Amino acid sequence: MVSLRGVNKFFGQRQVLFNIDLDVPKSEVVVIIGPSGSGKSTLCRCINRLEVINSGDIFVDGIRQPLEGRELARFRADVGMVFQSFNLFSHLTVLQNITIGPIKVLRQSTEEAEVKGRELLRRIGINDKEKAYPWQLSGGQQQRVALARSLAMNPKIMLFDEPTSALDPEMIKEVLAVMMDLAKTGMTMLVVTHEMGFARKAADRVVFMDEGRIVEEAAPEIFFNSPQAERAKNFLSKII
Ligand code: ATP
Ligand code: MG
Repeated sequence: MVSLRGVNKFFGQRQVLFNIDLDVPKSEVVVIIGPSGSGKSTLCRCINRLEVINSGDIFVDGIRQPLEGRELARFRADVGMVFQSFNLFSHLTVLQNITIGPIKVLRQSTEEAEVKGRELLRRIGINDKEKAYPWQLSGGQQQRVALARSLAMNPKIMLFDEPTSALDPEMIKEVLAVMMDLAKTGMTMLVVTHEMGFARKAADRVVFMDEGRIVEEAAPEIFFNSPQAERAKNFLSKII
């Protein structure tokens, strides 16, 4: 579904991604872990072109990442992204946050978008809050709304960049539970997270990054039980 081939990324003179090859097959969950500054966020941002790569290729659903204009807009609509901060529209209600994209970009009627929006709200377990504003919700609820807002655009893949790291412990669980459910529905997902429990349970593959390189890649049971690379061992010993 998503393929990166020989991707290099510089910020000024400084190279932050080195020759990245990565595949996220359809309906699989790939979890990226690695120390701070290793390039995980940059990698995600390159996939939906919030950052422009210097060389290499990125394909989503077989289509090479286009460079600009309408093609880029269409490309982006296929790639949903949930960040650490929720970035909801504060002047819009929960339901409006979810329906605005489908109405404006996908040209759905308000009615159609609202029917689908309510269905999504049920799925994320906050159907009683459709008229609430973001500031009236807990962090965990806001993050679930952000997730629903992305899903409303019918993405082919969902990117998550540390979606739970700004949340209190009890709220982390509820967001991870929604992500687990999403994974079970067959959504293709690329997830940057420090939640090793989630990685063990949900990931088809774990990718370990360090200093802009993919250092190791394995099934979770193999990676967590017997990491090969010294840097991966080191990292795991600090966080588990
Ligand atoms: P963290 O776990 O802290 O989120 P990360 O693995 O997501 O880290 P990135 O945010 O991708 O790491 O950063 C990779 C490197 O690129 C870092 O050295 C960072 O300082 C640098 N970097 C990131 N964004 C920019 C930018 N806009 N301009 C210049 N350098 C940047
Ligand atoms: Mg990051």
